[in-house]
Amino acid sequence: MTDDLAARLAAVDARIDVAAAAVGRNPAGITRIVVTKFHQAELVAELHALGVRDVGENRQQELTAKSELLRRFDDLRWHFIGQAQTNKARAIRESASAVHSVDRPRIAEALDAVGGETLDVLLQVNLTEDPARGGVAPSGLEGLAEHVLSACPTLRLRGVMAVAPLHEAPASAFERLAGHSSRVRSVAPDADWISAGMTGDFVEAIAAGATHLRIGSAITGPRPERR
Ligand SMILES: *Cc1c(COP(=O)(O)O)cnc(C)c1O
Repeated sequence: MTDDLAARLAAVDARIDVAAAAVGRNPAGITRIVVTKFHQAELVAELHALGVRDVGENRQQELTAKSELLRRFDDLRWHFIGQAQTNKARAIRESASAVHSVDRPRIAEALDAVGGETLDVLLQVNLTEDPARGGVAPSGLEGLAEHVLSACPTLRLRGVMAVAPLHEAPASAFERLAGHSSRVRSVAPDADWISAGMTGDFVEAIAAGATHLRIGSAITGPRPERR
């Protein structure tokens, strides 16, 4: 089991290195987050033994449960990548070191109101025309960035996050995301993280400048049924 996991992790990391080299990027500037949603905490422990330090979860209940079970690994960084609800802000903040899915002022305010150590946040941008897909519309991006900067002193704006649309080549969608990233940096020059790229499209994301990849099934294997 761990052997297969180690082999898949190594294979993905090798592909990341190749993709970075192909576009003249240093892979050291790319953080590979392993998305462990629906998997048991045990799998996260195995990943930790293989050197993984950044893991991603998309549901607050799972984030809370696994991070509590694995509290002994105090060097694990939990990235929250799912739709965030304001009434879950406290629980998210207690476990996550970064929230990739801030897409409206109210969730930023709710996370900020919890207080505590500075929390890294990214603004999720909707690259589709469908408002149900989550993420702020590109036209609202600077406004949301300014809101986080001016009204949420315990949040540190780190950059942008997006999921490629289903019916568009990821390369062109990620090119747009790179443009959105530079718009955010015109408001917040340090916010240079670009969280993009999953199992099916991380090579294109690297070519478009992604700094944080969120890779699940290529590393973990198929996800079990949602529990
Ligand atoms: C599940 C998920 C991923 C990882 O998906 P894979 O295709 O398994 O790599 C990445 N980002 C988000 C937001 C997710 O929900």
